[in-house]
Amino acid sequence: MLTKRLKADKEGIEQAAKILKNGGIVAIPTETVYGLAASAYDENAVTKVFGAKGRPQDNPLIVHIADIEDLKAVAKDIPNSAYKAAERFWPGPLTMIFKRTDKIPASVSAGLDTVAVRMPSDKTAREIIKQSLPLAAPSANTSGKPSPTKAKYVIEDLDGKIDAVVMSGDCAVGVESTVITLVTNPPRLLRPGAVTVEELKEIFPDIAVDSAVLAEPKKGERVSSPGMKYKHYAPKTETYLVEGNTEQFVQFVNSKENAAAVCFSEEEGKITVPKLCYGTADDEATLAHSVFSVLRRADDLKVNAIYVHAPSKNGVGLAVYNRLIRAAAFRVIKL
Ligand code: AMP
Ligand code: MG
Repeated sequence: MLTKRLKADKEGIEQAAKILKNGGIVAIPTETVYGLAASAYDENAVTKVFGAKGRPQDNPLIVHIADIEDLKAVAKDIPNSAYKAAERFWPGPLTMIFKRTDKIPASVSAGLDTVAVRMPSDKTAREIIKQSLPLAAPSANTSGKPSPTKAKYVIEDLDGKIDAVVMSGDCAVGVESTVITLVTNPPRLLRPGAVTVEELKEIFPDIAVDSAVLAEPKKGERVSSPGMKYKHYAPKTETYLVEGNTEQFVQFVNSKENAAAVCFSEEEGKITVPKLCYGTADDEATLAHSVFSVLRRADDLKVNAIYVHAPSKNGVGLAVYNRLIRAAAFRVIKL
């Protein structure tokens, strides 16, 4: 199939909405990462999303809306706190999980009786949603690879497999949305993102952090967020997450042969092996913005192993750490 390149302008947005209404699948920019969208009400189109990504059937999609009025159509038993959270964080990178209405086909939620819902802030995404219908969309990458933060990465993975890509700029946030479930009591954080635990506590004072956020799920363990059980976001090259201070990290990587470092900008001059920097250690927002791009480029260094200097777990740093520990298949080296 020929994958159309659409501009993020009025005409491109109209074309994208038309393709989506006709049951096609289109990669669209959002402020988190590019998403691969299908009409959330169209079971056949949703099936195509799983096919194009090679996504496991038990990994549910997020439903994207553009108006708070649309929440009731897709979700039920909505607690008051959800409206408060929507007022505070929507449009923006927060996904909330509710009970699913019958309008949403079971395949969107991978057979679960719940549905994940988000209202993106990216203007192009919102306009496309407004002109089509609620859209079901996971990240627009081949399953297992780092999520795409640039249109060219979508094309790298999905050219020829989807109807169109809306070519916009780099994603502002760079990591996928924060996911919380409101179906449990207390509410639980299933995946960290740019909306931080500290911020969520203002609305959900008793929110719990799911064990899958930082630890490897045990074999056969039932995980609340199916996406968290897969090896994810991974370069082809064997990747390790390394904890320690600058001095320890520099000494460690410099002693390795046929290896590369993913490091903080302030370490660049001290590292003698091939390296990619992803921002300064104290700037978690920049680390989030760059992490997937750096993981995508890591294979180009053509080494046997990649050692990533672990970020702090503060604020959005928790989201960066959560993605990196999966990219490293939970191989953590503590110096
Ligand atoms: P992606 O958009 O590719 O980051 O994938 C969406 C992620 O949201 C999935 O990997 C799931 O972990 C999570 N998710 C979506 N729907 C649900 C749901 N109903 N229950 C729990 N987690 C969900
Ligand atoms: Mg994904």
